[in-house]
Amino acid sequence: MALQDRMRDVEQRIQEACRRSGRRREDVNVVAVTKYVSAATAANAVSQGIRHIGENRWPDSEEKWRLLHGQAVFHFIGSLQTRKVKDVVGRFDYIHSLDRLPLAEEIQKRAAALDIVVPCFLQVNVSGEASKHGMRPEELDDLAAALRGLDRIRPVGLMTMAPLASEAEETRPVFRRLRQLRDQMNAKRAFPAPLTELSMGMSGDFEVAIEEGATWVRLGSILVGKEEEA
Ligand SMILES: *Cc1c(COP(=O)(O)O)cnc(C)c1O
Repeated sequence: MALQDRMRDVEQRIQEACRRSGRRREDVNVVAVTKYVSAATAANAVSQGIRHIGENRWPDSEEKWRLLHGQAVFHFIGSLQTRKVKDVVGRFDYIHSLDRLPLAEEIQKRAAALDIVVPCFLQVNVSGEASKHGMRPEELDDLAAALRGLDRIRPVGLMTMAPLASEAEETRPVFRRLRQLRDQMNAKRAFPAPLTELSMGMSGDFEVAIEEGATWVRLGSILVGKEEEA
């Protein structure tokens, strides 16, 4: 399928999920995950109106970033090692994978050196799968408290990855739990400003995520496709 057809198809499914759940279309943002495709394909997507690009490794995204930053907003969605923070801060507009204090401290240090503030999602491993990155829900309070001292990090929301499921519907409890966690944190005034965002939902489960409150869905294969030699 051509990119334009995929974009139209995804857009229709997003609108239907919004309608089913009484949500406004403009409250759901799409990050096009380009990690499986070439810089040329990513550039084509941007020229067709894609505004947000998601990547999970700096070396693989460098060419795309050099070509497209300024034209698209860049989201770092992969697990982030502390020693790789220098590659990401100052380049990516959002980090979706903040999940521990040492990482936050390194982001703070780099952002301070560049005199910028980095909007971050806190990644939570809701499902408890050992293979998933992210903190345990019980760790959120402590990280929230520590972040109060890190003025270069702006917590904007929570992020999660649902376990691979044969049926999208099986992911619903994970997404619902993430929304509840966000609402609980906000009720406790855990952050200087309420968290407004939920980054959840991928190609296989984005409609369920939207029904459960996702404000950012991260779509790779279904939207920009997959290429053998990216
Ligand atoms: C690869 C990836 C995606 C997109 O995956 P698809 O299933 O192809 O949509 C979304 N989020 C994260 C964190 C990823 O690593």
